[in-house]
Amino acid sequence: MERLQKVLAEAGIASRRKSEEIITAGRVQVNGEVVTTLGVKVDPELDEIEVDGRLINQQKKIYVLLNKPKGVITSSADPEGRRLVTDFLPGIKERIYPVGRLDYDTEGLLLLTNDGEFAHLLTHPKHHVPKTYQATVKGVPHGTILDKLRNGIELEDGMTSPAEVEYADVNPDKKESIVQITIYEGRNRQVRRMFEAVSFPVIRLRRIQFGPIFLTGVPRGKYRHLTVNEVKELK
Ligand code: URA
Repeated sequence: MERLQKVLAEAGIASRRKSEEIITAGRVQVNGEVVTTLGVKVDPELDEIEVDGRLINQQKKIYVLLNKPKGVITSSADPEGRRLVTDFLPGIKERIYPVGRLDYDTEGLLLLTNDGEFAHLLTHPKHHVPKTYQATVKGVPHGTILDKLRNGIELEDGMTSPAEVEYADVNPDKKESIVQITIYEGRNRQVRRMFEAVSFPVIRLRRIQFGPIFLTGVPRGKYRHLTVNEVKELK
């Protein structure tokens, strides 16, 4: 941590004395809040510092893949005190945010980043990133049901767009099966609602792929950083 006036001076904004004046004049914001007192300490790697509304430091961008367990909320705070995805990111000091959401009871691949533009791009409805899920359902939905899921299901918020759907596994006693489904949208509880609409409620839901990124190799509740190439492929 360093004193704000020192960070401003080192960034070439002004001399240290002049930087103090700039601070007391209310021209400096740290993480979106005006700071007018001298002696405030900041971390130039983590805090966002602006002078007259212009960012003077570049935060280090990080991109993380978490294998989210079920029973965890995709949020950085919860009034009900439930477990949060951020509880599973020891060692990450940066404030990072989920790229889209997974339901409380859905597990699997969740990306998190402090790169707002990247997160926005990937969750924008126009950016049809394929997302693949393994849905464990009661019974064995037959071919016509899978065709319905493929071609589009009428939900409260409109028809779903074409999806790829196939069996991944069928339990020997045919009590349940795993269906792999790839969707190109990201509506709220979409996969669960699609299966409910065809009367095959989802018992367990796990996301295994997001665009070119696979969950493979990351144990439940653990995370890894994306590689530079993975970030490039997603952009
Ligand atoms: N579809 C769902 O129903 N739930 C999720 O968490 C993600 C996709």
